[in-house]
Amino acid sequence: MSEKFDVVVIGAGPAGYVCAIRAAQLGLKTACIDKWIDEKGKAKLGGTCLNVGCIPSKALLDSSHKFHEAHESFKTHGIAMDNLSINVPAMITRKDKVITQMNMGITGLFKANGVTSLLGSGKVMAGKQVEVTGMDGKTSLISAEHIVIATGSLPIEIPPTPLHKDIIVDSTGALEFQGVPKRLGVIGAGVIGLELGSVWARLGSEVVILEAMDTFLVAADQQIAKESAKIFKKQKLDIRLGARVVGSELKGKGKSKEVCVRYAGSDGAEQTITFDKLIVCVGRRPYTENLFTADAGINLDERGFIFVDDQCRTDVPGVYAIGDVVRGPMLAHKGSEEGVMVAELIAGKTAQVNYELVPSIIYTHPEVAWAGKTEEQVKASGEEYKVGTFPFAAIGRAVAASESDGMVKVIAHKETDRILGVHAVGPCAAELVQQGVISMEFHASAEDLALTMFGHPTFGEALHEAALAVDGHAIHMPNRKRK
Ligand code: FAD
Ligand code: AMP
Repeated sequence: MSEKFDVVVIGAGPAGYVCAIRAAQLGLKTACIDKWIDEKGKAKLGGTCLNVGCIPSKALLDSSHKFHEAHESFKTHGIAMDNLSINVPAMITRKDKVITQMNMGITGLFKANGVTSLLGSGKVMAGKQVEVTGMDGKTSLISAEHIVIATGSLPIEIPPTPLHKDIIVDSTGALEFQGVPKRLGVIGAGVIGLELGSVWARLGSEVVILEAMDTFLVAADQQIAKESAKIFKKQKLDIRLGARVVGSELKGKGKSKEVCVRYAGSDGAEQTITFDKLIVCVGRRPYTENLFTADAGINLDERGFIFVDDQCRTDVPGVYAIGDVVRGPMLAHKGSEEGVMVAELIAGKTAQVNYELVPSIIYTHPEVAWAGKTEEQVKASGEEYKVGTFPFAAIGRAVAASESDGMVKVIAHKETDRILGVHAVGPCAAELVQQGVISMEFHASAEDLALTMFGHPTFGEALHEAALAVDGHAIHMPNRKRK
């Protein structure tokens, strides 16, 4: 007889491990299977997010930001730094320590909540059975009342630039460089490309980002995208739009190996550019290989994601799928919210995710963040709206910190004044937009935010002033009527 669980979760990334913990909290007998191991064969819970995604990228962004500050900005504060240097292997080791600390945290949480952690590869069979293949290749069967698939995603590879050792790498390889490349190419000006490009640019690489689309940050509010592009240009990030990479060639030998990249401009004309290293960041695809048998009844959608309804139910009763392996933005917090929702549904509670309010954040410096609708989306919907913007240049806290690039933008419904979107590029943009998310979650009006007292001096005053500006009442700037 195979062991029976109330809930078996496949995948221990931010979608799966959060789901497992919440299910166990709700009194359900829960197992979570994951196959991620370190070089010693030890389980590394946390998935992409913790091992090669959100956390390691932020660790390197923080390290490189400190170096860049010391190099570029300290002198404006009167702090002299001579003979500054960066020890890249030490920076990478610190990043690895951060990951290990967080891995241990999830292991501890599983123990504390009574989640059974299984090391191996899970495969969904018909009849709600899960086959687990251990690291030794041995298989066993477990049965489950409910199965939750949370197997995440993998980086997309493109034929023009096949990965090659540490020369042409994906986002995972870009977290492991042992030195600062002189000429670094990045394919894709999406969130990951901008973040990884920033890490190495701050440490001294000449970074060129090649982006196929003509529009920068197409998903963002275009006023914020344009403001961000100006800031990145000042930081010497060379972002080439309308540049589709069509081929590459490795040249040279050993340490002098380089990669020559061919890209086509919007007019079709081809250009070449040579880099010491190339990072391919052209998106991610759902991870469904060898995940279920044909008779399991699970279907994929036309883009290869596991097909689910609004509450993450697959076509098989009792089998759910959450996180990057299903439709929607590939973001850790979106998957975690789905994990909680599914655990609660399984426990018989009412639950849903508000997909209208998934915050998007780019952890460049300054950050770019947004939630709710962009001005382009509101315009396209035909809703009447009003807009308030406020620059950080008029915020005392931002000027005092020499962090005065960027702005906050609040969009509200013209009649009801309800906030429809909050967008920012600037210091602490992610935290400010989160205040916007809370406001929108509680259906606040721009006036509600305007009437809220904000501490002084804070970066948050930019959000306050932008909310005041929605009705032309900003205090620290002349209010201009928008056309
Ligand atoms: P994953 O985190 O991919 O986890 C899936 C797990 O399932 C893995 O551990 C895998 O080993 C396991 N698995 C797969 N198949 C099987 C199987 N058959 N059996 C057993 N186990 C299996 N998102 C943000 O929100 N904020 C960020 O700042 C951010 N930064 C990022 C930076 C980078 C460089 C990258 C690459 C991604 C970043 N993301 C960020 C995206 C984020 O990492 C993903 O959205 C998130 O990890 C998805 O969570 P998940 O649980 O769905 O899947
Ligand atoms: P994201 O999907 O946000 O991770 O961003 C990936 C980016 O890579 C998108 O903006 C794509 O337009 C871009 N992209 C995909 N293929 C290519 C290519 N061959 N050359 C240049 N950019 C590309």
